[in-house]
Order: sequence, then C-alpha cells, then structure tokens
Amino acid sequence: MFGFPDYTIRRDEMVETQLRARGITDKRVLAAVRSIRREEFVPEEARDRAYGDEPIPIGFGQTISQPWITAYMAQTLALTGGENILDVGAGSGYHAALLGRLAGKVTSIEIIPELVEYARENLARTGLDQNVTVIRGDGGAGAPDGAPFDAISVAAGAPEVPAHLLDQLKDSGRLVIPVGPLEDQELRLIVKQNGKVESRVVGLCRFVPLRGQHGWR
Ligand code: SAH
Repeated sequence: MFGFPDYTIRRDEMVETQLRARGITDKRVLAAVRSIRREEFVPEEARDRAYGDEPIPIGFGQTISQPWITAYMAQTLALTGGENILDVGAGSGYHAALLGRLAGKVTSIEIIPELVEYARENLARTGLDQNVTVIRGDGGAGAPDGAPFDAISVAAGAPEVPAHLLDQLKDSGRLVIPVGPLEDQELRLIVKQNGKVESRVVGLCRFVPLRGQHGWR
C-alpha cells in the first residue's frame, strides 16, 4: 500500500470538518458517509480531490455534488430505513449509493446515457448496487414503474417542482429539490400531508440545471 493516500483518514476528516461541524447530526447519515469510498465515484485523475469541500466534474458538463449538500439532503429526508426512494440525476451514482445505505430501495434516474453507465459501474464496483437500480430517462416525469415513493431527492435545479414528482410521492412522503434560476436556487423540502402539499425553504444551493420536459430548455 506504499505511496497510496489513506482515504479512510481523509473520509473521517471530511465527516468531522465538513459535515459534523456544519450541522449534520443524523448518526445514520454520518455512518453511511463513513462507509462509502467516495474516491470510487470520481474520475481517476480527480481521486485526490474526492474529499474536498466542492463539486467535482464527472464529464458531460455534470458534477458530483459537494459532500455537505449530499449529506444535508439525505438528512432532510429523515430516513429511518426501509423506504422506497427515487433519486433524480444519478450522475456518478454516489448520492444513490448513500440513499441505498439509508433506505430500503433506490431507483436512480439519469438522462445522459453515458452517465447511466458510469453510475452503474461505480455502484457495481463498490458492491453498493444491491438495492440501487439506475435507469435511463427524464426524471422530471418521475419513474412511474417504481412509484409511489416514500421520499424523492432531486440533484438538479428545476424551474418549478414537477407535478409528476408530487403525484408519485406517498402521503407523508418527503421531496427535496433545488428550485429557481440557473445560478442560485432554493433548496425546498416538500411534505405531502393528507393530500396537501407543504413547501419550505431549507437552504440555498447551486446545482446543475434539470433538463428534459420539466427542466430548462
Ligand atoms: N447525484 C449525483 C450528482 C448529479 S449532478 C451524484 O451523486 O453524482 C445532476 C445530474 O442530473 C447530472 O448527471 C444530469 O445529467 C442529471 N439530470 C439533469 N436533468 C435530468 C433529468 N431531467 N432527468 C434525469 N437526470 C437529469
């Protein structure tokens, strides 16, 4: 192992200085982040930066999100295990892997075919594909075959909350989604309660734009 960086140490440091220090308190989320080798979800030449406090390009104009926002979105979904989840924007597959550790089953949808393959490969290589399925499609329309979902996580900024996602959310279900203009979005938490939809802003963020029918053209 001589000469190889010790990613375990970097990962623990990242959890302490980026996550715990900035308000991630959910023990299951922290444990799940500690258990996933993030360096396996970035291009080889970027491995050294895998635990940096920033997004990293993964090709096709897309990025793997900053570790903090990924953990924050997972914490916001308040998962307890066993849930059926939809993850929109598979990208590297990292966020899907994290949700897979926290829930029962994850369907992750990606619009760029090459990234569908990339996410599948990363999940298979790390053995985190047991309860995670990556499908190709426009996540703005959800994934009717897997619905209804206990929780939905969207990793691309949408002009508005796509109605299909609300339709595919179970009662008491939670949806986290960045909404707003291309540069700066509000991260919204939407909770369905007795058929009614409540929305609140839980942070500010900057994601790549949602494409497709319900995204930015
Ligand atoms: N969650 C990812 C980061 C994704 S970046 C990770 O952990 O690596 C956002 C991703 O959303 C990109 O891969 C982009 O191609 C994808 N995307 C954008 N619009 C989409 C749409 N309408 N349906 C599905 N995926 C979409």
